[in-house]
Amino acid sequence: MSSDPQQTPATFRFEPHAAPVAANERAQRLVDPGFGRVFTDHMAMIRYSDAEGWHNARITARAPLTLDPASSVLHYAQEIFEGMKAYRLADGGTALFRPEANARRFNRSAQRMAMPDLPEALFLESVERLVATDRDWIPESDGGALYLRPFMFASEVFLGVKPSSEYLFMVIASSVGAYFKGGSPAVSIWVSQHFTRAAPGGTGEAKCGGNYAASLLAQSEAIRQGCDQVVFLDAAERRWVEELGGMNVFFVFDDGSMATPPLNGTILPGITRDSILTLARAEGLMVREEPYAIDQWRSDAQSGRLVEAFACGTAAVVTPIGQVVSPEGRFTIGDGGPGARTQAIRTQLVAIQRGQAPDPHGWVKRLD
Ligand SMILES: *Cc1c(COP(=O)(O)O)cnc(C)c1O
Repeated sequence: MSSDPQQTPATFRFEPHAAPVAANERAQRLVDPGFGRVFTDHMAMIRYSDAEGWHNARITARAPLTLDPASSVLHYAQEIFEGMKAYRLADGGTALFRPEANARRFNRSAQRMAMPDLPEALFLESVERLVATDRDWIPESDGGALYLRPFMFASEVFLGVKPSSEYLFMVIASSVGAYFKGGSPAVSIWVSQHFTRAAPGGTGEAKCGGNYAASLLAQSEAIRQGCDQVVFLDAAERRWVEELGGMNVFFVFDDGSMATPPLNGTILPGITRDSILTLARAEGLMVREEPYAIDQWRSDAQSGRLVEAFACGTAAVVTPIGQVVSPEGRFTIGDGGPGARTQAIRTQLVAIQRGQAPDPHGWVKRLD
């Protein structure tokens, strides 16, 4: 046994599913898959131990895991994940969008959570092999995609509090339809008062399950307040707008400029966020990464200086924000519906992702 943790397994084993879903049954499941409920036949899996490094890489039949009840992830939540999509191109090929950015972010999350680095090549190979194996699960429908969920968790059987000495890295794939049918309706958001998502020095910029666990009560409160989503303010001053539970936020002003909160350690560095910034700057538009206060948001919406706001992330791409609700009352952005600029950004990004528009930044990685 080698003890070099940086070693990469020489081969991925391929263990095809003995009884994959039949083509007609699969077609039925893909008619209206929704989000995150329809899963493909296979999954990728790589084990890690301090002694052996990354080993036992395989694509295998998707199946439940057997976990010892003392597996440390179940107690101390040492877990990180990614979210990305494989698209079907107009010519029938498949493509990923900026997968290297997901691989890099995965390792930044791993470092924050005291987990081992996964060589980027292994991350990418896992994702690409799974997509190649299960490519028939990409829906043909408009807006359909294969949502990929790479994740890693602590699998050592030990109740002591320390970084685990063993991990499991996996990728599962879910056929998804358009997040919103018939374009994106504007959503309403609740400004969380008591609960914050991330504090300076905390795990806000890591994509870890624990951040989501901590956001669920605030999200439930938003629903109780009649809103669709929650927006979090900074933990120190409860003043600066940070992001939604799982999406970054942008503001569009009447002079044509845009702004988004800066990456200051408490905000998740979204790849959609970065793509929108890059596209806007390439067009010579004025985009600021600067703190924006909730009171300013309200007064700018009321004065008309702020004309649009939207949230962004891989799952829903770009989602217009129509109403913002807090105990101080409710304010409407623009006419409360999807703004023209928001829709144009969404259309531009989706066209690049699906190979329907030029890709000047080399973001689309064609697989076949
Ligand atoms: C994943 C995520 C985002 C969006 O990131 P993308 O790379 O654009 O999908 C934003 N905020 C949080 C908290 C996230 O977990």
